[in-house]
Amino acid sequence: MAKRAFNFYAGPSTLPLEVLEIAQKELTDYRGSGISIMEISHRSPEYDEVHTAAMSLAKEIMGLGDDYKVLFLHGGASMQFAMVPLNFLRDGQTAAYVDTGSWSSKAIKEAKKIGGVHVAGSSKDANYAFIPKPSDIKCPGDAAYLHITTNNTIAGTQYHELPDAGAVPLIADMSSDICSRRFDYSQFSLFYAGAQKNLGPAGCAMVIVRKSMLEKCKDGLTMLDYRTHAEKDSLFNTPPCFTIYIIKLVLEWLKGKGGLAGIEKLNRAKQEAVYGVIDSAPDYFKCPVERGSRSWMNIVFRLPSEELEKKFLAEAKAAGLIGLKGHRSVGGIRVSLYNAMPLEGAHKVAELMASFKKANG
Ligand code: PMP
Repeated sequence: MAKRAFNFYAGPSTLPLEVLEIAQKELTDYRGSGISIMEISHRSPEYDEVHTAAMSLAKEIMGLGDDYKVLFLHGGASMQFAMVPLNFLRDGQTAAYVDTGSWSSKAIKEAKKIGGVHVAGSSKDANYAFIPKPSDIKCPGDAAYLHITTNNTIAGTQYHELPDAGAVPLIADMSSDICSRRFDYSQFSLFYAGAQKNLGPAGCAMVIVRKSMLEKCKDGLTMLDYRTHAEKDSLFNTPPCFTIYIIKLVLEWLKGKGGLAGIEKLNRAKQEAVYGVIDSAPDYFKCPVERGSRSWMNIVFRLPSEELEKKFLAEAKAAGLIGLKGHRSVGGIRVSLYNAMPLEGAHKVAELMASFKKANG
């Protein structure tokens, strides 16, 4: 039996053990083909089955119909920061963005290289400690789209209520909370996520786009045009086959867990365990995030000193809890509780936090 740690890295991050075990079993001989899925042509029937299943499972789990297209694109979520404005922001138009953290800022920076940007809401002046209320997000009626980041991986915030974009297409970076709870995904004209958190290993972004939105694409470079990939079901060129294979296994695992309703129940319990300890000693575990904006996926807090943080991280590592260090730009502790983290992992962190405070409080 392999020794498995509880892995709290923010991404790439923990994958379901069941998925890794299937991948391991199938690695050298994919279902009797005599070769691995990494070595099979992306035009083969074996791979085609995987590819098609990954697309349809994604839609099934997220309750989306034929009016949406699932794409698997190279370049991670960061490539989407460019592709969104390249496709939808026309000359003379303005795109609206809500700035809720480092990743939103990067998306804004990229869009500014392509066209006009209006910051429709921001929590920058408050160190990104909250998500602006829907009533504080002012989206111009003629904006090309409104872009939000549903979960802020570094700041530890998450939208619990979406802004009302009216007739303006709503676009979301859901890299760190896609498929983590029940959600009306049809509110979005396009949403995307780097695979390496809730979906699979690194190597691609899942982009889900409403078909009618594709009619609005501007002509551009072939590989950066959503229509190229939509028309060929992400097989215009060689897709990241192995990543997509693991995504398919993860989506099957998710379906087996009861889909979004099942995973929401698990994720709710996990975050309650950790925030519960924070709330029992808020002066010791200082969480900078406003209560109504707390992320279920990335819980951030500081301890009374950097020395104590180092000690906490060392004790955690010794106890088999790894990847708890906060992002280098903000420091502190970050507990990432993506879908594949079992409840036991969240309980173990919560127990360590409580005992650490007792010993060092
Ligand atoms: N958006 C968010 C919310 C993220 O957390 C990240 C990566 N952690 C990115 C975008 C960038 O993703 P990638 O590394 O796949 O480009």
